[in-house]
Amino acid sequence: MSSQPSKKFQEQLIQMLTHRGFVWGPEPEIYGGLAGFFTYAPLGKRLKNNIENKIREVFIANDYWEVECPIIMPREVWKASGHLEGFTDPLVECSKCKGVFRIDKLIEEKYPDVIVSAFKEKEFLEFVNDAKVKCPTCGSKFLPEIRRHNLMMKTTIGTNIEAYNRPETATTTYLPFKRYYEFFRKKFPFGVFQIGKAFRNEISPRQHIIRCREFTQAEAQLFLTKKLKQDWKQFEKVKKEKLPLWTWYMQDNKSHPQMTMLDDAMSGNLLKNKAYAWTLYVAYKIFTELGIPHEKIRFRQHAPDEKAFYSDDTWDLEVELQSFGWTEMCGISDRTDYDIGNHSKASGTDMTVPDEDNNKIFPQIIEIAFGTDRPTFAILDIFYKPESGVGERNVLKLPKHLAPVQVAIFPLMARDNLDTKAKEVCEILQKDFFAYYDESGSIGKRYARMDEVGTPFCVTIDYDTLEKNDVTIRERDTGKQARVKISELAEKLRKEL
Ligand SMILES: [Zn+2]
Repeated sequence: MSSQPSKKFQEQLIQMLTHRGFVWGPEPEIYGGLAGFFTYAPLGKRLKNNIENKIREVFIANDYWEVECPIIMPREVWKASGHLEGFTDPLVECSKCKGVFRIDKLIEEKYPDVIVSAFKEKEFLEFVNDAKVKCPTCGSKFLPEIRRHNLMMKTTIGTNIEAYNRPETATTTYLPFKRYYEFFRKKFPFGVFQIGKAFRNEISPRQHIIRCREFTQAEAQLFLTKKLKQDWKQFEKVKKEKLPLWTWYMQDNKSHPQMTMLDDAMSGNLLKNKAYAWTLYVAYKIFTELGIPHEKIRFRQHAPDEKAFYSDDTWDLEVELQSFGWTEMCGISDRTDYDIGNHSKASGTDMTVPDEDNNKIFPQIIEIAFGTDRPTFAILDIFYKPESGVGERNVLKLPKHLAPVQVAIFPLMARDNLDTKAKEVCEILQKDFFAYYDESGSIGKRYARMDEVGTPFCVTIDYDTLEKNDVTIRERDTGKQARVKISELAEKLRKEL
């Protein structure tokens, strides 16, 4: 069952993220700040790196190869991809204060059960004309028209070449298709992914790093033939796995997602092909391996009228957040042969290749598309456990493998050789772990600081250490303490981490 998103929790979390050095902004703060641009501060950047490396690891384990393509591409690319015309947000203008807002977001906030992504102009206008949503600034009615705002950020190459910052990495990944085809010895299937920046010129992004104007995407593309989609060998390995599937008609009749075995999903026609079912599982694996609990994940299928113009079938992986409720994290789309077909036509380059039966085809593409900012926020949101009342302890119960600081080393006092000894221990541990030395404030304060940034272990050097060569090791989640020999410390931590 879902719980209500908490504005109070959200504010407390964002304050912690700023105060403890995870995320700063919106930037440039000293000039007043622009919505949708953030700095990953030292701890946040380490966490985001750990998350990106985990994503990379799962992609590579599933035979995707990493590439890095340019961020900026000329107009003709975005015309062919459909972004120049189709990549827009619906806007409304306040009749009184002239403020401009995204009508879909306003409806979503007020009516969380309404799925606005399926809305056409007509449905939006109904909400505006019936004044079911009003200006959040002054409470007046909106002008009765829906404007379209393109989300791409424009730039110029040289003196006169019109160009755009990419609004997704996917399109830039597709362009060298014929190069991949040669590299992979002219044999389908093959997978390619990119982790890199993309840009969307949102009108008024709120929701912290969940919705940025500049953000990091992680998008994987599987190139294959129609035949391979049905005849997908890797499906055998995952067909008994269960995923929380929520079809569009289940959403329609208000029933809940069902844990569904992929084999059953195929035979019940919930999913159209085995390669797509396998791809859903890869996406699920990324989120569960990051440490997100199963019960906080669901796959929501797009209704037929909600799907993007290029997609044959799309399911979004959503995660339940304390701050924002169920939030889209990842989209898995069967993009068919739409992309390569369009770029072939628009560029005048023949991008056809032979399939198994020697027919000339454009490749089919199945995509896993997401960013790394949202999973980073999700991890922080789900595992931050502030406690109120007597003896309060704010703990960030991060999965240990993601913690930005793995172990902190404290001398009981910064004197009597305790500090020298502590620095020695720190140096030993730094060979294998991200270890952090801290001598300022009381031990209690130092523990509290480390609890709040998710450090799984703290090691204290006291007077006994100098005689017996052992230390106190304290565990974040339980507060339990134990004495361990310095010589056995690294081995103990390795086991735990
Ligand atoms: Zn207004």
